[in-house]
Formats: sequence, C-alpha cells, structure tokens
Amino acid sequence: MKAARYYSNDDVRVEKVPVPEIGPEEILVEVKACGVCGSDVMEWYMKPRAPLFFGHEPAGVVCQVGKGVENLSVGDRVFVHHHVPCFVCHYCRRESYTMCRTFKETRLYPGGFAEYIRVPAPNVRTDVLKLPQEVSFEEGSLIEPMACCLRGIKRANLQLGDTVLIMGAGFTGLVHLQLVKILGAGLVIVSDFLDFKLEKAKELGADVVINPGREDTLEKIKEVNEARAPDIVVVTPGSIEALKEGIRLAGKGATLYQYGPTSPEATLSIVPHQFFFSEITFVASYSSSPLETRTILEYIYQKRIDTDELITHHFGLEQIGRAVKLTAEAKRSLKVLVKMGE
Ligand SMILES: [Zn+2]
Ligand SMILES: [Zn+2]
Repeated sequence: MKAARYYSNDDVRVEKVPVPEIGPEEILVEVKACGVCGSDVMEWYMKPRAPLFFGHEPAGVVCQVGKGVENLSVGDRVFVHHHVPCFVCHYCRRESYTMCRTFKETRLYPGGFAEYIRVPAPNVRTDVLKLPQEVSFEEGSLIEPMACCLRGIKRANLQLGDTVLIMGAGFTGLVHLQLVKILGAGLVIVSDFLDFKLEKAKELGADVVINPGREDTLEKIKEVNEARAPDIVVVTPGSIEALKEGIRLAGKGATLYQYGPTSPEATLSIVPHQFFFSEITFVASYSSSPLETRTILEYIYQKRIDTDELITHHFGLEQIGRAVKLTAEAKRSLKVLVKMGE
C-alpha cells in the first residue's frame, strides 16, 4: 500500500509499505480522508523526528477487526483518534489527559496519510467513533482538530457573556469562533492580517473583525466593548510576536490562552506586575481527549458548526507534497484535506 513519509516541508514522499497486520483487540481502517494539521508543517517539530510517517486526523472505514473487538464491525464508517489516555493514572485523575503516558504512547501505524492504518487496542476501546450516515468522511477528519479547540476553550474557562478576542482567522481561529459562540460568549472579535480570512470570520458569525495592519486592535476593541479590553484572548498563531500582542491586549481578569505551540528555543519576557495587578491567567492547551471528540461529532451531526466553509482544498495522496506546501504557506488555505483514492 502507499503511505506518505515526511522528510521536510519540501520533501514528502509517497512510499510503498506492507499493509499493517493487526493483533487481538486492534482494527485495520481504510483511510478515506485525513487533514493536514498546522503541526504537520512546523519544521522545528517535525524535522528532528524525520523521516516519519505522519497524519493524525483520519476518518475511514473499518476493514478488519481483531479478536475480541466487540464495539466495532467491518464496514463501520469511523473517526479514529490517534492518541488516547488511560483514565486511571495520576494525570488522568486530574483531567490532564494529554499528559498521560498512554496518551503519548498510543499511535496509529503508519500514519493518517496512508491507505490503511492499524489502530491500537486502547484507541479502539476509547476513541474510535462511528460516523452517522449524515456525517461525511471529510467532516469526520475535522473532529480531532476541532476537539483540540474545544478543549482549549474549556481550559480557558469561558464564561457566559465573555468578550473574546481570537487572534488569527485561519482554520483554528474560525473553529474557535464558532465554538465560543455555541458555548455562550458575548461579543466575539476576530483579528487577522488577511482580509479574505476576515470575510470568512464575518460569514461565520464574528461580531467585529479587525485587520491589525490597518488599525490598532486595542483601540478598536475598546470602541466596541464599553472601553474594556477582552476577557479572553485566544492566540492561535504559534509565534512569540502573537503572544506578546496577546499579552498587550489582555484585559483585567483576562485569560491569555496559547493555542499554537512555539519552538523549545523561543522565549518570551513578561512583566509579572501586569499579570499580578490585572490578575491575568495564562493557559495553554495541548491536543484533545475522548471527552471533546464526542461533543464535536454531535455538533457536526446537529449542524451547529459549519464545516463547508472551512475546507478550502483537497488533494489525492500522490499530491500530498502540494497539500503540505499550501498549509505551510498559510495564506490562501484554511483546512487542506488529503483524500485517498482521488
Ligand atoms: Zn493536529
Ligand atoms: Zn492516564
């Protein structure tokens, strides 16, 4: 079968590998769609581990079940979560599911950008979700990245009526936008340097959009928010510049929420005086758990969250190099999908 292997953002190869064999309690899934994640094109994250099989947002059809699998059958259309927690360790008991050792050790083989994947037993038990007929494979592949956004919003302790600023109107910014509205935010403001993304944000329900290239974000927010800074600042770009700006924009009692990861070398100096006297909370959120994936599937099924506007491109597995480049460029695209058999 074919599987894509990452060497660098400019060098992704489709290689021939044997179809994985499965053991007891495992399943084999024929992948139908898998999204390209921002982290798939972060070279500081990927290159030290390269070459590697990748892709962690797959949806497909169960085509083989191992002995002892009772909750799934051949032919089931499914979303597959690549990591799952154990639910019993110290970290899981504190609801830090993504810090769990099992979470880090469970993985799909070879990776979502392959014709077939082996799903380990803990994942089969905990976070392979059957997709209703009304939910497409493309939508199924959005469950994982959307679940990551939902978990972050929960960690940021969004309260009913909060004014939320979302920095960045890429895929994750637009997902945060829709989710905070579902979850009861008041005024929702979205900022981005690209007007086409701000247009999308407006279509998807942003109350106010700001292009910081043309106007000062804080002044504009104060104009529309009773002279206050926002209660929650969602920083979706994984950059120090964005975090610095987020700190500047955080209001009294605000939560600064880092969504996009930064490299191990990147540092940021803060003024603890501001954090203390404005009681600013810093929150980061890494990945998602089986709690959020179920909620997201329900939101998609109920059509409470728009998926059509978010998928801007799709490519066949052979064209994965183009999918990776387009995502890395982060200009014209929102979510880029790889669809097997295209
Ligand atoms: Zn991801
Ligand atoms: Zn655990």
